Amino acid sequence: MFLSCFTAKLNLCSDFPITKSTSSLTTLHLDGYFNFEDISHVAEDFGKQYHYYPLAVLHPSSVSDIATTINHIFHMGPYSELTVAARGNGHSTHGQSQAYNGLVIKMESLSRPEMKVHTGEVSFIDVSSGELWINVLHESLKYGLTPKSWTDYLYLTVGGTLSNAGIGGQAFKHGPQISNVYQLEVVTGKGEVKLCSEKQNPDLFYAVLGGLGQFGIITRARIALQPAPKMVKWIRVVYTDFFLFTKDQEHLTSLKNTFDYVEGFVIINRTGVFNKWRSSFKPRDPVGANEFISDQSDGKTLFCLEVAKYFNPNETNIANEEVEFLLSQLNFRPSTLFLSEVSYLEFLDRVHTSEINLRSKGLWEVPHPWLNLLIPRSKIHEFAQGVFGNIVTDSSNGLILIFPVNKSKWDNRTSAVIPDEAIFYQVAFLSSALPSGKGIGSLEHIVNQNRRILEFCQRTHIGMKRYLAHYTSQREWKSHFGAQWETFIKRKSCYDPLAILAPGQRIFKKAT
Ligand code: FAD
Repeated sequence: MFLSCFTAKLNLCSDFPITKSTSSLTTLHLDGYFNFEDISHVAEDFGKQYHYYPLAVLHPSSVSDIATTINHIFHMGPYSELTVAARGNGHSTHGQSQAYNGLVIKMESLSRPEMKVHTGEVSFIDVSSGELWINVLHESLKYGLTPKSWTDYLYLTVGGTLSNAGIGGQAFKHGPQISNVYQLEVVTGKGEVKLCSEKQNPDLFYAVLGGLGQFGIITRARIALQPAPKMVKWIRVVYTDFFLFTKDQEHLTSLKNTFDYVEGFVIINRTGVFNKWRSSFKPRDPVGANEFISDQSDGKTLFCLEVAKYFNPNETNIANEEVEFLLSQLNFRPSTLFLSEVSYLEFLDRVHTSEINLRSKGLWEVPHPWLNLLIPRSKIHEFAQGVFGNIVTDSSNGLILIFPVNKSKWDNRTSAVIPDEAIFYQVAFLSSALPSGKGIGSLEHIVNQNRRILEFCQRTHIGMKRYLAHYTSQREWKSHFGAQWETFIKRKSCYDPLAILAPGQRIFKKAT
């Protein structure tokens, strides 16, 4: 597997001859422009394992630039080899936003029309799809409003996360980000510009949500808003028992009046991690917390429940009471209650703080062989027993997230693939490979570990579905989609019949 990662890495030279089909692009009348030279930056992503060089990069200034270009390629038909990948912020990990010998569209260039908040009985914000979620947040907050569902990191584009799902600690309550969109503007694989929503072109709307960029390029999105809180009580508690940890997570995510955010992570052989918390969190019982920490000799597996309660300063007492009431129902180790109070913005943007820190140490721009799994609730214990402390014996390569999500908050008309159970867990192995090195922490070690986790899931028929999936053959994709495959193919032939779009997902091959 390690070898195959590297054979897949196509370090092709960037001074490719401009072919007939690319030179025909130069005849198009656009508001923006093509760049045929400065292309290497789109031949990489956050994963830093795949490098597919395109022939050109489009910097669109208008939706019509995108429509004109795709329409042109569509009408060249099988005579053109060109495929087209929309690139959000390039934070995929397996080349999904790249286009080998194709055209990459830099969605961030499409900054018009400007973001617009609409307030009323139903509030929403209209944004260009290349907009980063952090900017969407800033703009919404000006009106005292906020989107409801978040990813943990906000330097991702609206189009990029809506093409996947956008799962975070609010998803149990509000669903993923794809459940919080009212309307999209899409350019299909035929170059047609379409507005779609639950009522208008619904099949296209649901196809595109979680559609891995296969059916159209999202150019604009209308995102649901709600009143924004000012402050957040941010809490971490620790468990030594996986059963109690998941029992409490599921309890909290089943309540109506509960925390606003529920996540969790696994700490394996890494008790030193508690010292890092001290800069942001205060233990309620410092002596007990110290005793607990010094008791945890390395080698142990611990589980941290992370929750947050939103509140406004004039409601502090009520928020405190609610938090105490919820905590009183839980089974964590009592001395491990760590508390913090931060602004809403600071809470949502928390990963950016880690990014700045990692960048300063040269540890951000490293390979990220991430593995994201969705595990049915009925199998989460079998999964934990087989994987934590066995296949994964150390979590110092990066965070291992684990938290439950309610299927009822997902719309089964979207293209997103999830396990067929009322509750399933998002389990994310967010590893960073050491810039150089062999053994534990090396890219080879992590890729091998991921392979063993996947083999374990297959061997034990755990019914897992991959999130942000990466497969190399259509047979694997077919199995991934299962019963949804027929619909997926029908939608592809309807909206992108020549398979021009999102070649980096490696689901369909363009007919030439
Ligand atoms: P890109 O990587 O640029 O694109 C992703 C795919 O979508 C590509 O196939 C691309 O062609 C397609 N695409 C991009 N824009 C469009 C568009 N406008 N129209 C159609 N197709 C398009 N995910 C979660 O769900 N929850 C998290 O909490 C979370 N945290 C993350 C934290 C970090 C640090 C990172 C790096 C990633 C995280 N992700 C998370 C994963 C992230 O949601 C996906 O990788 C997402 O695709 C990244 O968005 P992007 O804008 O960089 O998209």
